[in-house]
Amino acid sequence: MITNNYKLVSKALLINEALIAYGDNPNSRKQSWQAEFPQDTECCKCGSEARLAFVVKEEEGDKKFAHTMHQNELAGLGPAWLHDAVAVAIYFCKKCLEPTALYNQA
Ligand SMILES: [Zn+2]
Repeated sequence: MITNNYKLVSKALLINEALIAYGDNPNSRKQSWQAEFPQDTECCKCGSEARLAFVVKEEEGDKKFAHTMHQNELAGLGPAWLHDAVAVAIYFCKKCLEPTALYNQA
């Protein structure tokens, strides 16, 4: 159910404080904290071509971030976790439909 907690941002949808841009949106690859996401990538399961489905990007001003869910202890060789706001691109393989995710952080 879509509540009043959404708005359109550059043809992308902001729901519950995270930006979702579908892969057929020309701006979807730019919803990144670093370089643009590629249109296609290699499937993590079989190595075939995987196509961009959507990108989710946490935005400045969000009240909740994934990096606050767990402690990042990587420097002390403990469990690794995100250290900042994240953008995640989800791809689906043309051959096996396995999802592959690429991400970067602010
Ligand atoms: Zn595959």
